Amino acid sequence: MKVLGIGADGRGHAYARMLAQSPLVTQIIWTPGNAGIGSEVVQKSGLPVWCFNVGVEDIDGLLALAEYERPDVTVVSPENSIIAGIADRFEARGFRIWAPNQKAARLEGSKAFAQKFMERYGIACPKGNFFTNPFIAFGYADALNWNCAVKADGPCYGKGVTVCRDEIKARWAICEALIKRKFGKAGDTIVIQELLEGNELSLHFLCDGKTTLCLQSSVDYKKESDHKDARNTGSMGAYSPDPSLSDEELASIASGIINPWTKGCESEGINFKGILFPGVMRTAEGPKVLEFGVRGGSPEMETHLVRLETDLMEIILATLEQRLDRLSLVWKPVVSVCVVMASPGYPGAYEPGKLITGLSIVEKMPNVKVFHMGTKRGDDGRVYTDGGRVLGVTAWADTLQNARVRAYDAVREITFEGGQYFRKDIGGPPLWD
Ligand code: AMP
Repeated sequence: MKVLGIGADGRGHAYARMLAQSPLVTQIIWTPGNAGIGSEVVQKSGLPVWCFNVGVEDIDGLLALAEYERPDVTVVSPENSIIAGIADRFEARGFRIWAPNQKAARLEGSKAFAQKFMERYGIACPKGNFFTNPFIAFGYADALNWNCAVKADGPCYGKGVTVCRDEIKARWAICEALIKRKFGKAGDTIVIQELLEGNELSLHFLCDGKTTLCLQSSVDYKKESDHKDARNTGSMGAYSPDPSLSDEELASIASGIINPWTKGCESEGINFKGILFPGVMRTAEGPKVLEFGVRGGSPEMETHLVRLETDLMEIILATLEQRLDRLSLVWKPVVSVCVVMASPGYPGAYEPGKLITGLSIVEKMPNVKVFHMGTKRGDDGRVYTDGGRVLGVTAWADTLQNARVRAYDAVREITFEGGQYFRKDIGGPPLWD
């Protein structure tokens, strides 16, 4: 089978890696890819993954590429392609594509839509409302005692949410979005939710429009550091599985979140084919959804995929052919940890184009895989930083502690010209000062 992959991120690299190992796949082309994706080789044919230069939101360009290359299956990583409606456009031209359609993507593309959807179908979630007028928004935040989460309605790569615990911060967050237009169009509308207390759980579900299958659990680290006022990022690391997830809790997530979500999709004619990724907060009243992703999280997906024994292409085909009810997933009995290495300055401004060294040393380490999140290969053949989050250094072992030691051993071999930033506490207390 020939696969067209879309994306330049770490999750895309993980998909490319797993598909390159599939006995069903003979050729992979990718766009725009990154230095890591372009280094993968398809095991069955020995062909390298070939990268093109079409952007992830250029749906016309992506369709033209598909028309020319005629892939058997297209695999989409980034949410912006999904939100831009790539699935509908590809399916209309007869291409099989592993991505939810645009109607389904509104669950991620608009937090206001998602909030109302959750309320309409009784999905356990925080109380919330949406606003375009800052003064009305102040009033709502005041009524919540200023303990609230202020969220840009549109997608902002994990940076559109401000958690507020006092009046000054809440007013500031509302002004930044609605008056200073910090998020541009994505912040034309904001959602304000009551602030929930608890710890978070990342869960992924495979959906084929008929069956919803729990993929895996993980714990991710959204903040740039463990400081209570630290900024949110796209995530600085994760480990999988979450050992605290019990069958009872999973059952309560099924009854309070997944079952009403399925009913809601049925009522609204949403045929969801792909990955549903609810961000769940464990509160004193039980699990509640903070937001929905319509694709895998990153680096959560990286931590899941290194543990997956089942062929990823089998999973994709089962989703597209609506036979998830007959699929059983096999997982390696290991724990995985991903440490994100970022450009200094991220999640704020950072300088790309810094030389990365040490990757060849890490390549030889057992049970370690570096997924490229923001890299490019220079004309000199070397690998350079090309994003805020640059590498997802992923390791697996029999225990969480062994996996973290392995991941951090690898991290310490890698340097970016001018410095790198990463959290030292992914999966437990810092291993060194
Ligand atoms: P989201 O993109 O909506 O998942 O928000 C990003 C992060 O902000 C979440 O992972 C939480 O840490 C935090 N957050 C979002 N909404 C809330 C909420 N209603 N209460 C508490 N924390 C929240």
